[in-house]
Amino acid sequence: MKIGFIGLGNMGAPMARNLAAAGHEVHGYDITGILVEGVTQAATVEAAVKDAPIIITMLPNGAILREVADQLLPHASKGACLIDCSTVDVDSARLVADLATKKGLLSVDAPVSGGIGGAEAGTLTFMCGGSKDAFAIAKPLFEIMGQKAVHCGEAGNGQAAKICNNMILGITMIGTCEAIALADKLGLDRQSLFDVVSTSSGYSWTMNAYCPAPGIGPKSPSDNGYKPGFAATLMLKDLLLAQQAAKGVDAATPLGTHAADLYQTFVTEDLDDLDFSAMLPYLAAKGHS
Ligand code: NAD
Repeated sequence: MKIGFIGLGNMGAPMARNLAAAGHEVHGYDITGILVEGVTQAATVEAAVKDAPIIITMLPNGAILREVADQLLPHASKGACLIDCSTVDVDSARLVADLATKKGLLSVDAPVSGGIGGAEAGTLTFMCGGSKDAFAIAKPLFEIMGQKAVHCGEAGNGQAAKICNNMILGITMIGTCEAIALADKLGLDRQSLFDVVSTSSGYSWTMNAYCPAPGIGPKSPSDNGYKPGFAATLMLKDLLLAQQAAKGVDAATPLGTHAADLYQTFVTEDLDDLDFSAMLPYLAAKGHS
């Protein structure tokens, strides 16, 4: 099956490669002219999407998604399914879904979790919004690029699920780092804290599976000098999307707001593109205020 794939960056390139390796005829386009093994390089958006029953986008943000949608929709075949895997604001996802419907296309917003490692290994999780029919068409492709796809309801709900999940993740990471930094100053060693918390009511994915303290728990970016992993800049992006959405629907997210502020300061102060778990050395170096 011909698949038009737009956006061949850190995530898009391995996803397109996995689709090609599974036997699909993938035509990829990226403004920077990236070449991907097994993928036919298209010279334009039009060439990538022409006669393709499936079009996948993996782009940096909502503004670029809207721009690319304007470029591709006039050339897409009626009945084709547009699958956007980028993380974008809910409003852009719903706008692009509306435009696609008006052109006689099906669409799914399907942001992912699992990072670059998950994209390479084909183990991503897809959070999906769109009609049942669109999800059914996209599902076999999610099974190639990932290990789980959850249909969350109508257009935009995939993006809603993604920002809610990552708001919890950001808040929980900060809480985990605060507790470790406090334990340090109370003279409680990190391994003992981990042994207690990871089997008690304070347990979480950030403590148990992605511990921000080096040498504790399973291997994580903290064991690799906080090289991402999941970059703090991407966490900030998702927390700001959550704040934008919360404002739009008048939802109270006091800790989400605070987490966004903290990651904003972290990203501004730390010039290196560190993993989001580097919030631990950042907080450990500060005092109570
Ligand atoms: P990236 O910047 O590496 O890739 C984006 C690609 O889009 C780039 O290669 C860029 O050249 C291309 N692009 C930009 N404008 C374009 C245009 N007009 N036409 C065609 N191509 C264009 O980003 P990434 O890390 O691959 O992330 C992609 C999306 O996935 C983002 O929305 C990000 O938030 C989300 N995401 C990333 C991760 C991660 O760990 N990197 C994890 C989950 C979700």
